[in-house]
Amino acid sequence: MDIMQADQTYIASTYKRYGVVFTGGQGSVLQDEDGREYIDFGGGIAVNTFGVIDEAWRQAVIDQVNRLQHTSNLYYTEPQVKLAQLLCQKTGMSRVFFSNSGAEANECMIKAARKYGGDRKTIITLQNSFHGRTIATLAATGQEAFHQYFDPFPAGFDYARPDDLDDMIRLLARHNPCAIMIELIQGEGGVHVLEPSYVQALATLCRARDILLLIDEVQTGNGRTGALYAFMKYHIQPDIVSTAKGLGGGLPLGATLFNEKTAGVLDAGSHGSTFGGNPVCAAGAFSVLERLTPALLSEVEEKSRLIFDYFRGVRGVKSISGMGLMIGIETEKPAGEIVAACLARGVAPITAKNRVRLLPALNIPLDLLKTGLAILKEEIEP
Ligand SMILES: *Cc1c(COP(=O)(O)O)cnc(C)c1O
Repeated sequence: MDIMQADQTYIASTYKRYGVVFTGGQGSVLQDEDGREYIDFGGGIAVNTFGVIDEAWRQAVIDQVNRLQHTSNLYYTEPQVKLAQLLCQKTGMSRVFFSNSGAEANECMIKAARKYGGDRKTIITLQNSFHGRTIATLAATGQEAFHQYFDPFPAGFDYARPDDLDDMIRLLARHNPCAIMIELIQGEGGVHVLEPSYVQALATLCRARDILLLIDEVQTGNGRTGALYAFMKYHIQPDIVSTAKGLGGGLPLGATLFNEKTAGVLDAGSHGSTFGGNPVCAAGAFSVLERLTPALLSEVEEKSRLIFDYFRGVRGVKSISGMGLMIGIETEKPAGEIVAACLARGVAPITAKNRVRLLPALNIPLDLLKTGLAILKEEIEP
């Protein structure tokens, strides 16, 4: 079977895929259908936290598959509770709602904020943000390009300029919102790292005015930035945190974490999910989360420094942004061309806007990292 041709015939044309069919791999090495190997710098878009077919994750998933794959949320299950407890212990948050994706984790966050707000329904997000592909999370996304064709959107969203406190204050006065919702690093927006002083000022404003601070950690969460969650690096206490991507280690899982103030907002019947917190996904996620130790996170920081140092002053590099192993490289050549050239040489980074984006597995071995970086550097240089 010609996979690429059949894909183009039978699958909705929503994705512009690279011309590779991956069929297997191990850790940070992917293998295509011809047996060629690739160093994985994309991690399935920050999903494969410990690479592919990671042994501990695989064992946790297989054990749970052999026990019980699904019950619905009409009943109690152990993997979900164990994961929620560990999430709360590690974050200081109070309760968790489980779903299946980042968009759903954000939908839950938006619903809770609106219920908390009473008459105050508006949520201020940021320009250049990305919060998901459902109608409400698209409405929350502050990029016009995503809004084409799909209107009318639910009302109650407006978009402040990132890192511009005056613009936010202006919108707060105009809308009297229930919440501010932000990514701390705008991933899809080109790996834009928000200013800590701006974020801390927002947190202060929110506390003073009883506005909820919602942090979208779908991409930045689960060790990606070198902290367990990026909000820890910003020294803020969010009211609600959403996460997904890296949490499940490769299986679909979203989580919305509530602090003490918001823990009671969603009550029986106000929200739900058939698959959310599926025992197999939760068992895999537990094995991911319990290994995101301080030692592992400092390894992430070391690799991060190595990458930043590696590209500093390199010809063809305009700038480099990010935190931990979420890195964007602004290049003189078009990012798409660099990624395609790397792929042809057995290295698989991705793009974010006009940047080459690196989201490797957190445990990528140093030798693979260095080998991949050397090839990437050659392709970046003019
Ligand atoms: C990927 C992403 C989402 C959407 O997650 P899905 O699992 O694709 O629904 C939402 N917010 C951010 C910050 C993301 O990076």
